[in-house]
Amino acid sequence: MSQPESAATHRNFIGGKWIESVSGETYRTVNPARPSQVVGEFQASVPQDAENAIIAAAAAAPGWGRMPAPQRGSLLYKALNIIERRADELARAITIEEGKPIADSTGEVKRAMNILEYAAGEGRRLFGYTTPSELPDTAAYTFKRPLGVVSIITPWNFPVAIPVWKIAPALICGNAIVFKPASGAPLAATIIAEMFEEAGLPTGVFNLITGPGGSIGNTLVDDPRVNAISFTGSTEIGTRIYARGAEALKKVQAELGGKNAAIVMNDADLDKAVPGIVQGAFGSTGQRCTATSRAIVEKDVFGEFMDRLIEQTKALTIGDGIDPSNDIAPLSSKSQFDTVREYIGVGTEEGAKLVFGGHVLEGPEWEGGYYVEPTIFTDVPLNSRIAQEEIFGPVLTVFEADGVEDAVRISNSVQFGLSSSIYTRDLVLAHEYINTVETGMVHVNAPTLGGEVHLPFGGLKASGVGQREQGTEGFDFYTETITAYIDYSAGNRERSRFI
Ligand code: NAD
Ligand code: MN
Repeated sequence: MSQPESAATHRNFIGGKWIESVSGETYRTVNPARPSQVVGEFQASVPQDAENAIIAAAAAAPGWGRMPAPQRGSLLYKALNIIERRADELARAITIEEGKPIADSTGEVKRAMNILEYAAGEGRRLFGYTTPSELPDTAAYTFKRPLGVVSIITPWNFPVAIPVWKIAPALICGNAIVFKPASGAPLAATIIAEMFEEAGLPTGVFNLITGPGGSIGNTLVDDPRVNAISFTGSTEIGTRIYARGAEALKKVQAELGGKNAAIVMNDADLDKAVPGIVQGAFGSTGQRCTATSRAIVEKDVFGEFMDRLIEQTKALTIGDGIDPSNDIAPLSSKSQFDTVREYIGVGTEEGAKLVFGGHVLEGPEWEGGYYVEPTIFTDVPLNSRIAQEEIFGPVLTVFEADGVEDAVRISNSVQFGLSSSIYTRDLVLAHEYINTVETGMVHVNAPTLGGEVHLPFGGLKASGVGQREQGTEGFDFYTETITAYIDYSAGNRERSRFI
C-alpha cells in the first residue's frame, strides 16, 4: 500500500516563508481509508497567524496589482507547468487525505490545470469597454482594478480544484491572497502553495494558513485589510460569513450546499439515465456539491428504472480509493461518517423505505475506514429530512412524479438550488424544465455533475450568493469596475451636470 508523501510536519506559508504557527501547536490528518495512518502534521493556526498573513498580503498587493496582467499570466502558466509535473503526486495526496477514488482525484487535478490555463490567458483579456460619451471630445471607458487582499476559504471535498478556481482568477486580476483550506485537507493545499512559490510569485502575494475555521475564520473575514472573501462550504458557515462581510460592505462570494435532483421522464433513454444517476449519486462517494441526491422518476418508467438502478448499484465495488478498481471509497472523515450513518437511521424512522444498502462496513478487513454502502430510499415523504437536507454521502432518495410539472415541483421543493438534470427526448419537456427549475446549472440527458471552467458555476437560493465563479463572470468578483471620463476638448466649455 502506498505511503503518504510524508508524515512530516508542514508549515504555513506567510510572506514568502514557511513558518510555524505562533501557537506552537499542530494537528494531524489521517487517511480515511485507514485512520491509523497519519497523513501529516499541520499548523493549528490562531488569529495572530491569520493577521500576519493578511499583513503580508496587504504589503504585496499594490505591487502585484500594478504588474501588467499579461506578466501575471506568464507566472500562472509557470504554475500550470509545475502542476502538470506534480499531477500524480497531487492526485495521490487528495485520495490519501480526503479519500476519493484516485480516478476522481486525477480528474480533479486536470480540472485545476484547465482553470490555470484559462485564467492565465485572461491576462491578455481583462476587458473593459469603451462607449460614446454624451459630450463632444470626451472619451468614456471602463477598466478593471484589483480589490487588494482576498481571503479564500475552501471545503475539503475538492481540495485542489476549488482552491485553484478561486486562486487563479484572484491572482490574474491582481489581488494578493490569504488561502485557508479546510482543516481536513491541508496536504493538497500545502502542495498548491509550493507550486505557486516555485512559479515565482512575488513575496506575500500567496499566503497559506492551515487550521480550523472556527478559530481563524473571523479574522479572515473581519480584518479591515481584507477587501473580499471567496468562500465555498456549507450553507451554515457561508451564511455567517456573508452576514459578517455585509456589516463591513465587503464583497462576499459564497458557494454553498446542494440537494440536486435528476428527473427521468417516461420517454427517457434509460441506458443513459440509469448510469448517469448511479455516477451522480455514488461517484466520489456522493461527496460532491453537485452530486445527485434525488432521482425524480415519472410513473410509467418507475419500476423498470428501480430494477436497473439497483442492479447497477450492486455492481459498484467499495474499498480504498487508492486502488483504481474501487468505485466507492470511504467518507472523508469520522464526522462525515457519523452524519451519513445518522441520516440513514433518520430516513427509516421518518417512514422512507430502504431498498438498497444502508450499512456501514466494519471489521478488520476495513481497517477502521469510514465506509458506508451506497444507499437508496424510495417512498420518501417530501417534507422529511432526508428529502430536504444535504446528506453529503452515497445516499439517493427516489421520488415518483406525475408529469414534468410535478417533477419540477418536487425538484424545487428544497431550499437548495445548485444543479439539476432531466432525461427526456422531448424538446418541449426539456425546455419546460430548463425554464422553471430553480437551480443555477441545468443538464439535459447528462448527470447533475460537473461543469466547464469557461462557463459560470454556482447556485440559486440556499446554494449560493454573490457573483458566479468561473466563466467570464468569475473574473468580475475579483475586480472593481472603474468608469473613466476624459475631456480632451481644447479650452473651457459649458457643460451641464445632473449627477
Ligand atoms: P464547512 O462549511 O464546514 O467548511 C468550509 C470552510 O470554512 C473550511 O475551510 C472551514 O475550516 C471554514 N470555516 C469553518 N468555520 C468557519 C468560520 N466560522 N469562519 C470562517 N471559515 C470557517 O464545509 P465543508 O464541510 O468543508 O464542505 C462541505 C460543504 O461544502 C457542503 O455543504 C458542500 O455542498 C459544500 N460545497 C459547495 C460547493 C459549491 O460550489 N456550491 C462546492 C463544494 C462543496
Ligand atoms: Mn463541515
